[in-house]
Amino acid sequence: MPPDYPNCLVCVHFKVTWDPAFPRSCGVFGFKSRNLPSVEVFASTGRRCPLFQERPPKKPGTN
Ligand code: SF4
Repeated sequence: MPPDYPNCLVCVHFKVTWDPAFPRSCGVFGFKSRNLPSVEVFASTGRRCPLFQERPPKKPGTN
């Protein structure tokens, strides 16, 4: 069964870094990565990231 990675791009803990080699980061786990952090979490633990928290939708007219 393929792993069901949470979508870090819509998680409140996801960050973008200035490091071109490791442009993605997870604020709660505290690491930078090339892949989505949830992929790294699965590779390290064999489990789906348990800390995914969906970012609330933006209000119209805000950035
Ligand atoms: S908490 Fe999990 S889902 Fe959220 S950014 Fe980190 S690895 Fe991705």
